[in-house]
Amino acid sequence: MSKKSRHLPLQPVELEAIHAAVAFANLPRIESAEQVEALFVAVPLPRDVRDSMTHLPTVEAVAAFERDQTELHQWFEQIAQRGSVRPAAMADIAKLIGTAIKVTNAHMTFEHSRLAVRYELAFRGVQSAYSFAVAVLLDTQRTLADRLGKCPLRDCGQFFFDVGTHGPRQKYCCAQHANIDRQRKFRRK
Ligand SMILES: [Zn+2]
Repeated sequence: MSKKSRHLPLQPVELEAIHAAVAFANLPRIESAEQVEALFVAVPLPRDVRDSMTHLPTVEAVAAFERDQTELHQWFEQIAQRGSVRPAAMADIAKLIGTAIKVTNAHMTFEHSRLAVRYELAFRGVQSAYSFAVAVLLDTQRTLADRLGKCPLRDCGQFFFDVGTHGPRQKYCCAQHANIDRQRKFRRK
């Protein structure tokens, strides 16, 4: 690995799950199952899983997804603050990883002198998809946890995943918020 570029050790399905989990955590208000399903559109949730999500009455679906979102929010807060989650959460995630995800297609690749197993997955639901995303972040072989950040700008607090492969770590959710915060600090001087 060269000094100036950091390889992002992620398979497409892993990156998609992380992006979907971040979008779900940042959703300001859950209004329907369709809205949540749309955030996970790139994540392999089989047809029957998507159907069962959207066939629930809206009130029940919203309540269930709000519980999921609260859980994910807590995990992300813990990762952004301390780089990991509490042991009880770790156990919950391990259980879901072992039971609610199916490897559907695995094959070997040998690219850029890296030997790897590529795989595709099928998740049993949104909870297993975001639990998988969190497990990828927490995997100590990859050290990705410090790429999950929380925007420090007052009134923002959005989570983000830094995909940068060079330069310093992203500190704000976007360049605009970095600028606003810099200007506020400047004015206070
Ligand atoms: Zn922000």
